[in-house]
Amino acid sequence: MTKYGFLGLGIMGRAMASNLVKAGFEVSVWNRTPNKCAPLVEMGARQAGSPREVAATCDITFAMLADPAAATAVVLGPDGVQAGIGDGRGYVDMSTVDAETSAAIETAIRQAGGRFLEAPVSGTKKPAEDGTLIILAAGDQSLYEQALSAFDKMGKLSPYLGETGQAAHMKLVVNMIMGGMMTAFCEGLSLGQKSGLDGQQILDIFMAGALANPMFAGKGAMILQGKYPTSFPLQHMQKDLRLAIALGDKFAQPLSSAAAANETFKRARQLGLSDEDFAAVFKAIDGKR
Ligand code: NAP
Repeated sequence: MTKYGFLGLGIMGRAMASNLVKAGFEVSVWNRTPNKCAPLVEMGARQAGSPREVAATCDITFAMLADPAAATAVVLGPDGVQAGIGDGRGYVDMSTVDAETSAAIETAIRQAGGRFLEAPVSGTKKPAEDGTLIILAAGDQSLYEQALSAFDKMGKLSPYLGETGQAAHMKLVVNMIMGGMMTAFCEGLSLGQKSGLDGQQILDIFMAGALANPMFAGKGAMILQGKYPTSFPLQHMQKDLRLAIALGDKFAQPLSSAAAANETFKRARQLGLSDEDFAAVFKAIDGKR
């Protein structure tokens, strides 16, 4: 039976690893803050002491980590994945990072004798819990095919996009648009309310027309209630905008709305909103806290 590993049990990783355990797979887990492994262990997962141990004992190790620094540290750091992987075992990094970080991780894994796939996901906490993520895969095709039965438990669609870097690019394009949409939406909602309109009525009118989409519906309700339970941490959206803008720099491509959105998300971080849901960027725009 294929042995799976999972590194990083934050909002997304915990839900994704749970779906592998629920499917009856043999799963070893590791998290930097070890007590976050407890719910998975209760479900039947095995807790490992280091990324190295997971990579050395599992056929395929998945990772879902915060950002490029975290993704790199878990592979190259002391007792990291690089020290344990080998013999063609697989490493699948599902974190959202830039293509350069992904390429550096791929090099480290291949030098150690492993195979590498990048597989960032589209979809947030609820799709992660429901196993309905969109998994964007690129890199080693044999590993992609081998990982498909696990992807099927975590997601509803797992397109293969080609060489390493292509999935990172796709993911950054998606989130760049999402960040820009969110700031435009918040600006409209805030301006409408300040001009005397009712928030719910604004939302209802948006939802009846061409502006309707699930993100505006869900996040709009959150904003009107003034409660921001975290599905997608605001600091990660700002990271994705930063990485998308850096990608635009490479092609001298103007990204005016993404750059403006990035500034607004940076302001929100300054206001201490990093760990709230990214919809809390509303507070940085509206000015009332
Ligand atoms: P999260 O809840 O903040 O979890 C981050 C994870 O990274 C935790 O396990 C954390 O460990 C670990 N970590 C952070 N720095 C580390 C380091 N230096 N060394 C080792 N581990 C480290 O984030 P999340 O929402 O699950 O997101 C994870 C990734 O998925 C991010 O790249 C994000 O952009 C992407 N993503 C998120 C969503 C979403 O809706 N939430 C959707 C799509 C993609 P500790 O527990 O020890 O802090």
